[in-house]
Amino acid sequence: MDQGTVREFIRPSVEDPTSEWQPGDAWLAGGTFLFSTPLPDMRRLIDLTTLGWPSLEVSDRGLRIAATCRVVELYDFDPPAEWTAGPFLREAVDSFLAGFKIWNTATVGGNICTSLPASPMTTMGAALDATLEIWGPEGARRTMSVPDFILSNHVNALKPGELLRAIDIPLESLMRRYSYQRFTLTKHGRSSEFLVGTSDPRKRDLMLTITAATSRPFVLRFAVMPSAAELHDAITSAVSDPDYFDDPNGSPAHRKHMTYYLAEVIRTDLAGEAS
Ligand SMILES: Cc1cc2nc3c(=O)[nH]c(=O)nc-3n(C[C@H](O)[C@H](O)[C@H](O)COP(=O)(O)OP(=O)(O)OC[C@H]3O[C@@H](n4cnc5c(N)ncnc54)[C@H](O)[C@@H]3O)c2cc1C
Repeated sequence: MDQGTVREFIRPSVEDPTSEWQPGDAWLAGGTFLFSTPLPDMRRLIDLTTLGWPSLEVSDRGLRIAATCRVVELYDFDPPAEWTAGPFLREAVDSFLAGFKIWNTATVGGNICTSLPASPMTTMGAALDATLEIWGPEGARRTMSVPDFILSNHVNALKPGELLRAIDIPLESLMRRYSYQRFTLTKHGRSSEFLVGTSDPRKRDLMLTITAATSRPFVLRFAVMPSAAELHDAITSAVSDPDYFDDPNGSPAHRKHMTYYLAEVIRTDLAGEAS
């Protein structure tokens, strides 16, 4: 849709893209959210796609995903064979409810910054323990974890003038075993619940990430694989009833019930137990 209040379209400086930011500006990535709903306070668009950030960089530290990497590029990425969790990058993109226009244009950073409970790139980043690199005015730099970044439905921790530069996934996360469960009300529907477990095969620990069911991601860490009762109690301690999200894709009661159920399926899978 047209955004009739927008008067200027800006190409930012590569050295300091935040230098020109002023109230009324919006960072433009794929534009699939920005052009999908009226945003009457928006006056200028600052185009991040002209900055030339390399989309995907593999190193011995892991994978750096530029915020401007399109989700289709992540889908097409062929991860090193030794990355046990490498296939999850594509599987997370696969859970994106979107037609081909969105699919080919939306970016990883735009998805995280839209900050919907069902944002699959948020799920991917949280489950793989990613660090978000944030750039602010006058060269300010800071990093955050995904669960700290997403505050609630459509709300994140970016301050005025800040942008998301990159999503860094550590090699350690990419070497972990993983198991995930996703529930949708309809076959190609938006996620009502999207839970991911990862485990280091040597330590036999567990990291469980709960998304879509809740307004923001929750990550539970266990030094050793918990029992069913320990997992149940940990979820009860971490996630309270108001944390469960409420929208047409699922009531809080449904989401709560499914969270416990899917978490246990993941636990038995990673523990090698028969469910
Ligand atoms: C039909 C349809 C289906 C959709 N399905 C889904 C879905 O299943 N799940 C889902 O999560 N979303 C969905 N969306 C919403 C949206 O398309 C996605 O969230 C998409 O990933 C947004 O990415 P983008 O690059 O297009 O972001 P944009 O639209 O360009 O930007 C989105 C927001 O993030 C900000 N932003 C973008 N990049 C940065 C950055 N690097 N730093 C700081 N701020 C930034 C923008 O200013 C804006 O506020 C859907 C939208 C439509 C129209």
